[in-house]
Amino acid sequence: MIRAVVFLWGSAVVLCADMLGYIDGVKLALPIKEMCIEEFIKCSIGHIPKAIVKDGLPHFGAKRDDWKSKTRVHQGYDIYVSHVDVVAAADGVIKTIAHGKLSGTYIKVLHQNGVETLYIHVNKVFVKEQERVKAGQVIAHIDKPAGNAVAPQLHFEIKRKEKMHLDPLVIIKNHYQDDQVLMDMIRSYEKQIPANIAHRDTLVKTYIQKRISP
Ligand SMILES: [Zn+2]
Repeated sequence: MIRAVVFLWGSAVVLCADMLGYIDGVKLALPIKEMCIEEFIKCSIGHIPKAIVKDGLPHFGAKRDDWKSKTRVHQGYDIYVSHVDVVAAADGVIKTIAHGKLSGTYIKVLHQNGVETLYIHVNKVFVKEQERVKAGQVIAHIDKPAGNAVAPQLHFEIKRKEKMHLDPLVIIKNHYQDDQVLMDMIRSYEKQIPANIAHRDTLVKTYIQKRISP
């Protein structure tokens, strides 16, 4: 059964799915308050960042810092949002609240069965370390870029026991496999990813050449 949320949009009542999916028996909600799955997809893999070289593409596994010639793999999933509340994806305990040069402020939440979720590039934080949180509880707010992010965004990570990072999109596709409209939307964005990568690779190459040649 798809978890749904009802909220008022002007005078209309909107009913939409706000579930991300299941991992190791843990039910995960989307990490943005009052966001529907369709919007979540549009703001993530459906979004091409303006600062495409520095921010990189939003999908899991995308290249990062190749423009600094220090290529690493993007182990999270970016959702381009601003003026939104970030919510805990599942019941759990706040394990860490910290600040890093690249991440800005981030929050790590530990759930059942060793599942962890990470919320990176947040601004205001509304919880404390060791605090118990419920699924859907507001933990932070995003209204400006943080860390190395050029535009406001949530960098969201899901990890399991062995510290393995998981691709949220794989979990979403597994959960919504019978929703043909959503699956068609995801497939159409996925089809564009290779062209977006090629476009970005060209820009990165130009960027590096410009910096190293007089
Ligand atoms: Zn990211």
